[in-house]
Amino acid sequence: MKLIFEGHDERYTVEQSLLNLFPGELPVYEPIQPGDESWAVVSCREEAGRLLVTTDLCHLGGKAAAFHTASLSGTDYDREGQRRHAIGACFFQAYQSLTGNTPPWGMLTGVRPDKLTTQALAEGKTPEEARALLERNYYVTPERAALAAETGLAAFEAGGDLGPRDIAVYIGVPFCPTRCAYCSFVSQSVEKSLSLVEPYVDALTAELAAGGSMVRRHGFRVRALYMGGGTPTTLSAAQLDRVLTACEEAFGPALDPGGEITVEAGRPDTITAEKLAVLKDHGATRVSVNPQTMEDHVLRAIGRRHSPGDIEAAMELVAKTGFRHVNMDLIAGLPEDTAEGFRRSLDRCLRFGTDNITVHTLSLKKGSRILTEGLSIPGPQAVGEMLDYAGSVLRRAGYAPYYLYRQKYMSGSFENIGWSLPGGACLYNIYIMSELCSILSFGAGGSTKMVDPVLKSRRIQRVFNPKYPKEYMERPEKKEANQAAFAAFYDRGESGENRA
Ligand code: SF4
Repeated sequence: MKLIFEGHDERYTVEQSLLNLFPGELPVYEPIQPGDESWAVVSCREEAGRLLVTTDLCHLGGKAAAFHTASLSGTDYDREGQRRHAIGACFFQAYQSLTGNTPPWGMLTGVRPDKLTTQALAEGKTPEEARALLERNYYVTPERAALAAETGLAAFEAGGDLGPRDIAVYIGVPFCPTRCAYCSFVSQSVEKSLSLVEPYVDALTAELAAGGSMVRRHGFRVRALYMGGGTPTTLSAAQLDRVLTACEEAFGPALDPGGEITVEAGRPDTITAEKLAVLKDHGATRVSVNPQTMEDHVLRAIGRRHSPGDIEAAMELVAKTGFRHVNMDLIAGLPEDTAEGFRRSLDRCLRFGTDNITVHTLSLKKGSRILTEGLSIPGPQAVGEMLDYAGSVLRRAGYAPYYLYRQKYMSGSFENIGWSLPGGACLYNIYIMSELCSILSFGAGGSTKMVDPVLKSRRIQRVFNPKYPKEYMERPEKKEANQAAFAAFYDRGESGENRA
């Protein structure tokens, strides 16, 4: 779509709105010619302390216009936010008038739509006021606004329990038995990279030892530890034992005795009684088994080598081992699936009685086999039916949503939701999605996020470990630098430099 800006240069805001509302359209900065069928002119000017924004939109021959006005006040930073919001809102209104559509999340383009409700609650608003704010100011549908108010409240409550030196730890194991059709993650198939696994465990345990000493020296408390991937249970029982022993030695007293330890045992074909016993012995409080579907033909379509029967067998082992919390992941919108098939999958998952069920919406990732091989997937209406069913059946069974997030290129522009029975919420998921505390990451591709513990400031800084296992193993100096940056972030904060 050709984009023309008059009186402003809010390129990012308009481009994000474009990608959100017109999937498949890319921004083009060229003059509009007679006969062009896809363009927008977004104008903005200030008059007596007010912003006046207009959008003229043309798409596939249809035309619409919108006018939006908003007052400007506060600091330069506040005014910049008000300008962006007004431009995004005006573009959205033109879209609505052109198409008659209201997407579930309205004009919101970000990953964490419920952050606005958490912020509103922190400012003293009630959940009802926070919900109304999303509907009124961001055109979010009433159903999604209510959802965001619930998960925003869960984040607000979890944040209230965090101390200034409380952090979470993430440990990445970037190996999987095979690659799923929807995956673009940098996970290595073990078939191809078996020789890397043992040296990777060596490098990971060394990084944990160094990171643990930094954590202890600086008086951090690890409230939640999460081992994800990839599929951590791709490691052998002995390798899992090494990594978890390294965690205990590294963090020792810094590990909150009441905290949680989650291990993703994602692929049922990697789960054995021996591995589960290792997790249990090391105090894992939560495991996540991720069938994604219980439909045999859908499992084959996504490149999984296991059957629904294997999932049943894995769940039996998990139940026998006895973890405090168990999660199962499902995905709505997988290739070859239908609304009926998704309903069967969810009903079957519910029979396992786990206290967590996470319902993802398929996200079309660049480089995934779905895109490269052009696999056929259910349309947005079918995906909407799947999610509606999930919402109603999970609520009837006593589950409530406790965290949510969105990704780019999601089918129907929906969301991923973690549901839990009372007392079953995974704090790590809330911490990371609502950016409530720092996450210190270990392993290849680890992204360490430093969050200023002062609620008002919320200054965030990130450092990244090398992406691929080989590069990760060969660059210990990068990991050391990241840990030093983590410590320095807090040291600076105490001397006042983080209090921008
Ligand atoms: S299990 Fe997860 S990380 Fe591994 S290939 Fe499948 S989607 Fe990717």
